[in-house]
Parts: sequence; C-alpha cells; structure tokens
Amino acid sequence: MKLCEFLRPASLPAARDNLRELGAKGMALAGGTALHFMQDHTPVTAVDITHLGLSYIRPEGDFYRIGATTPLADIQRYRAPRWAMHEICRRISTHQIRNVSTIGGNICRVFPWADLPVVLLAMNARMVVFSGKEHEYAADDYFKTQPAKRFLHGDLLSEVKVPALQAHHGFGSVKVVRTAAAFAMVTIACVLELDGANIKSARVAAGSAIPFPRRLPSVEAALKGKEAKTEVFQEAARKAGADAPWRGREGMSPDYSRHLAEVSILDALERAATFARGRAE
Ligand SMILES: Cc1cc2nc3c(=O)[nH]c(=O)nc-3n(C[C@H](O)[C@H](O)[C@H](O)COP(=O)(O)OP(=O)(O)OC[C@H]3O[C@@H](n4cnc5c(N)ncnc54)[C@H](O)[C@@H]3O)c2cc1C
Repeated sequence: MKLCEFLRPASLPAARDNLRELGAKGMALAGGTALHFMQDHTPVTAVDITHLGLSYIRPEGDFYRIGATTPLADIQRYRAPRWAMHEICRRISTHQIRNVSTIGGNICRVFPWADLPVVLLAMNARMVVFSGKEHEYAADDYFKTQPAKRFLHGDLLSEVKVPALQAHHGFGSVKVVRTAAAFAMVTIACVLELDGANIKSARVAAGSAIPFPRRLPSVEAALKGKEAKTEVFQEAARKAGADAPWRGREGMSPDYSRHLAEVSILDALERAATFARGRAE
C-alpha cells in the first residue's frame, strides 16, 4: 500500500463514513505495522483510527473488554486475576512493534503467522464489529474465513471481549520460534475446564504451521470426559495429524510441523491443567 493522504476522524461513525466514501481507495490505519507486508503499492488514503477512544482494557461482568486499538504492549503489561492474554503478547515480535501494533490490526487482516487469532479461538472470545450499530461475532464464526473480507465496506472492529477464566478453567499457550522475535513455527493455545480430576470441556487451537488458524476438533474430542493427565494429553495430541493440513516451510517437512504441533499441544495442555488447578499468576 502507498499512503497518499491521511484523515483523522473524531469518532467511530465518522471513521466509518470516511471509509465508506473512499471505498477501495481507503484503509483503516491502526499501528500501521502490517503495511510492511502489504507491498502492492496501491495508492490509498489512510483513515487513522487510533484517536477514537478504542484503546482500553476493562473488566466487566464475565468479560475483559479490550478496545480494538489497544497496543499489544498494553495487553502484555495488564494484570488481573486469572488474566492470561499477556502470555502470548509478550512473545510477539519486539517491544517496538508491540508498542504500536494493536489487537485489532492483528485480527482484522490475519497473516499466516498471527498469534492472537489462535488464542482468541481457544478462549472463545467475541468480536464486536461496528457497521452503524454494533454486532457481536463468536470467534468460531469470526475466524471461519479471512476477517478482512468483513471490513471491505468500511465496517470497523471496535472491541474484543475475552471471557474471564472461571475457577477450574485453565489456559495454556506455546509459540515455537527459532529466535526470540521470529514468526512462529507453530502456535498452540488451549483452555481446559476441569471437573475434579477430569476434563469437562476443552478448546484447542493452532496456527502458523497451517494455512489459517483453526480449532482442532479431534484433539478436543479425545480430551473430553477423560482424566487430566499426561498420558491422556499425549494421546489427544496424536489426533492433531487428522485435524489440519500441516504444511512444510523454512526447511521443515509437513511431517516435522505435525510432530512439532503434537509436542506443543502436550506442553500447552499441561500448562492449562496446572493453571486450572490454581496457578499463582
Ligand atoms: C517485523 C514484524 C514481526 C511481526 N511478528 C509477529 C508475530 O510473530 N506474531 C504476530 O501475531 N504478529 C506479528 N507482527 C504483527 C502483525 O504482523 C501485524 O503487523 C500487526 O498485528 C498489525 O497490527 P497494526 O495495529 O499495526 O495494524 P495495521 O497495520 O494498522 O492494520 C492491519 C490491517 O487491519 C486493518 N485494521 C486495523 N484495525 C482495524 C479495525 N479496528 N477495524 C477494521 N480493520 C482494521 C487495516 O486496515 C489493515 O488492513 C509482526 C509485525 C512486524 C512488523
């Protein structure tokens, strides 16, 4: 993209009006870090959405409400009881990128390496889209296809609602990287709900080593109702091969990616079980 003009609307409805008038000649601009990866040189007018009051984290009822333009660094620094979003944010790229890159930018145009869609799928988050009025989408629906398609006509993501993890719920994530700031070779996130020693429900999601982030239904099914222990986690992780088209890249064969995913799933499940049993963080 080649930014030729710059608008700074004062409100969310004004930003949407600007984008609707501009059509294909306009783009919402949050942190702007994705421009680095969008190198088609189409001239566009940037509509700056970072001054619309959408940078906040608010606990409210059963959710943490995170404004769409909240920088990843703010999410990384935030702490609250049973809050887990900082775990993955501190592992995304560098401090400089996290200071400007926003949660909305990460999930409105999903790149293959994006980590937050994986976490939000596991957490069963809800995305709020402003199209004149606000509509809420469950993560399974929102990430069914590339979300950027939703925003072609000027609509904007305004908020992400992350469920507060209840007692007996635990979160675990694993991002496998070659070097600290590199893109993930595989990203795994999961939420386990325990009922005593057993797993009442499980949500497990993967990204990076597959074309698009997704949940792993065979892995989830192999966990439900079973005892939360290593052998069960290992057996469930082995189902991942059937759940997604693991792809080879950067010297890794598809089989290597699948194996890496299995190891990472085991690790993430063990972390989630420890969290659910009462991790002090
Ligand atoms: C070197 C580098 C390494 C990175 N590594 C990783 C990594 O390992 N893992 C990872 O997850 N991310 C990583 N990122 C970040 C990621 O690739 C994106 O650059 C970033 O998430 C985009 O956020 P942004 O706020 O800068 O969005 P922008 O660049 O401003 O926007 C991105 C897209 O989303 C649209 N958009 C933004 N906000 C909204 C909204 N509220 N409503 C509708 N549309 C909107 C824009 O129009 C644009 O199409 C990296 C980035 C860089 C530069």
